[in-house]
Amino acid sequence: MSVPGNSVQGVKQVVKVRVLPSERDAAALYETLQTCNLAASWLSAQMHAARVFRKIDAQHRFYNELRARFGLAAQPAIRVIGKVAEAYAALRANIAAGNYGPPGSDRRRRVEDSPIVFRPSGAQPFDARCLSWHFADELQAKKTSSARRLLKKRRRVETGFAADINHQISKCTVAEAERTGYGIAVEQLTGIRDRVRPRKPQRATLHSWAFAQLGSFLAYKAKQAGVALVEVDHAYTSQTCSACGWVDKHNRRTQAVFECGRCRFVGHADHNAAINISARGVERWGEVMRPYAAPTLAAS
Ligand SMILES: [Zn+2]
Repeated sequence: MSVPGNSVQGVKQVVKVRVLPSERDAAALYETLQTCNLAASWLSAQMHAARVFRKIDAQHRFYNELRARFGLAAQPAIRVIGKVAEAYAALRANIAAGNYGPPGSDRRRRVEDSPIVFRPSGAQPFDARCLSWHFADELQAKKTSSARRLLKKRRRVETGFAADINHQISKCTVAEAERTGYGIAVEQLTGIRDRVRPRKPQRATLHSWAFAQLGSFLAYKAKQAGVALVEVDHAYTSQTCSACGWVDKHNRRTQAVFECGRCRFVGHADHNAAINISARGVERWGEVMRPYAAPTLAAS
């Protein structure tokens, strides 16, 4: 299972996680996986028939029916749509590259004429939002004793899962820093807690706890490996242009997109912030280690 886009503390990593769940959890996970892949195949057929291949268009058109048909929560439904749209984009690129033969060839036509089908056990991206979704929305409202019991159990599973992911992220990050001779720069932990603005109190509990845990894992593993780790002031890192230094809250157009109002630099908001944190890490390291030479620091 791959866990993409974990972007916290300005450290962005794609990690592969092996989950070792109990038999019952494994069955539940597998069932979810199968449902997501069935949903993906259904959606793929709809998109192919309607010639709708962009994620945003597919979302407008099929999101509600996808959720209703397969009983998916919001986040997994979005993930399924993203996965199918990405699969078609990859296929288009392969066709354009001539990997299915020249235009008009039988093989190419066969590929173009049939919708992509997803294997029942094919990989499905999950993230922390998927994991915390159910208990936040449904069960909490009920407050019956069985709901409470289930809630408690789920929380335990989610907590264990978050710890696994945190272990993997911190391990990969430190290993990569060690391999490349770079240091690691992270936002100050207190800053992260302040910046998490959850809509639901349950999410706040899980997330601030998980962020703090990731910070402590990172600190511990970096120290063990002899990798430099500095905490930096995170103020304005998400509003500052990493290309020209211009600070403006309007630079951050959406949660995901950064666009500089002065030099027109455009990038992923988290990546832009990570570059700023990395630059501050170098400065900070210089202050800490003076008069020694500052090593190159990067967070990515
Ligand atoms: Zn700029």
